[in-house]
Amino acid sequence: MDIQNTLRDGLLTVVLPAYNEQDSVPLAADTICPLLEGEGIRHEILFVNDGSRDGTWNAIKAQTARHPQVRGVCFSRNFGKEAAIFAGLAQAKGDCVVVLDCDLQHPPEKIVEMYRLWQKGYQVVEGVKVTRGKESPLHTLAAKTFYHFISSATKIDMSRASDFKLLDRRAVDVLVAMREKNAFFRALSSWIGFETTQVEFEVQPRAAGESKWSIRSLVRYAITNLAAFSTAPLQIVTFLGVLVFLCSLVLGGWSLWQKISGQALEGFTTVILLLLLIGSILMICLGIIGYYIAKIYEEIKDRPRFIISHECGGKQDDR
Ligand code: UDP
Ligand code: MG
Repeated sequence: MDIQNTLRDGLLTVVLPAYNEQDSVPLAADTICPLLEGEGIRHEILFVNDGSRDGTWNAIKAQTARHPQVRGVCFSRNFGKEAAIFAGLAQAKGDCVVVLDCDLQHPPEKIVEMYRLWQKGYQVVEGVKVTRGKESPLHTLAAKTFYHFISSATKIDMSRASDFKLLDRRAVDVLVAMREKNAFFRALSSWIGFETTQVEFEVQPRAAGESKWSIRSLVRYAITNLAAFSTAPLQIVTFLGVLVFLCSLVLGGWSLWQKISGQALEGFTTVILLLLLIGSILMICLGIIGYYIAKIYEEIKDRPRFIISHECGGKQDDR
């Protein structure tokens, strides 16, 4: 392991994706700026406004006026948290970048701990959840099931993973260079490897506002990211095909035997059931294959992952 005795120094970029976070933005800036200043860490704060419908962009602009180290980029519409994180990574000027939620559910004081570990030579510092915070038992069960699948697909334990991470410039450059549109930050940032360590944290209650996740968006998130990281569903399709084929061999042999031995067949219900079963399995399989084809189509269109319409703070001060 290439962990140094002399501490390195460098600019830290804090990336905060924000969607309808007008009340959290000032809280985040007022917490993080004094904290890093107090610790003597050179930093810039980068808010990514993910097409918010409330006053988030105005709140970010107000912060750039108050704190010179705050910058903001604004998407032309809502592109989702993953896109906001990747935009933050692409725009970051720092020698290392930390990503955390704007609602302060990821405790900002841990940024200092992460930065100190980076100074020692670590290239990726992962925030791992000790507790999952307040959520319904159904949500916890669904999340556990999803992370079980994604962990076996990626061969990385994702059960306590979060988007709260510090990445060295090298790791950031690698991630930014990846062209896949359905990039799943939490998994990709582990998949890339590098000298990694972990910092445990407790998920805090939201500083302000509400969670943006509905059951529908969580299900979509789970399906998109499973498909982005695993072709297991396609293998299941093949497995199902083999299973049904074996069943049909047994049933076919049995039917033939009945025919040869001259027993009358009353198989109407069996035929209907088999038709329905095989029909629905075929439909599901076609759906799964279709989903992957749709994803290939999305990738080859090569549309940008996000579109930036405005920037503020830093050098260009566009209103
Ligand atoms: N977020 C985003 N775009 C979205 C949804 C969420 O940038 O489309 C941001 C949001 O502003 C917050 C972070 O992602 O900073 C986490 O979102 P949220 O708090 O709603 O999720 P939860 O903490 O409930 O998982
Ligand atoms: Mg949150």
